[in-house]
Amino acid sequence: MTVLETAPVVPTTVSHPTACPRWCKDRHAPSAHHFGPTSTAHWSPQVILPNPAPLQGASAVMMRAELYRGDFDAGTGEPVLYVQGETDIDMTPDEADIFIAQLQAFVDTLRVLRRQMV
Ligand SMILES: [Zn+2]
Repeated sequence: MTVLETAPVVPTTVSHPTACPRWCKDRHAPSAHHFGPTSTAHWSPQVILPNPAPLQGASAVMMRAELYRGDFDAGTGEPVLYVQGETDIDMTPDEADIFIAQLQAFVDTLRVLRRQMV
C-alpha cells in the first residue's frame, strides 16, 4: 500500500488588524479596530431608522443596521448585514407619514449595504 505524503498544512500568516474592506469605518485608522493577536472586527458606519414618536421611556431609534466582517486566525470572514430592532411604536397619521418615508429610506440604504457585501 502506498501512502502519499502531503506537506503539512501551514497556516498563512496574517497580522491583525487585517486589511479593511472598502466599507469599514476604521479603514484609515487600523488601531481603532477591535482586534487582538488572532482576530479583527470590521464595522461599517451604522445606519439608523429613527422613531418619530417614542413611547415614554422607549428608544428614539427603531432599528440599526451595519455591515460586519470578523477575521479570525489566518483567514478573512464573510461580510454580514447586522440588523438590530430596538422598540415598538404607535403613531398618528402625520407621524405614520414620517415613519413610512424614513422606513423607505432605511430600506433603500439596506440595499446599498447589501451591494457592498463583497
Ligand atoms: Zn477595518
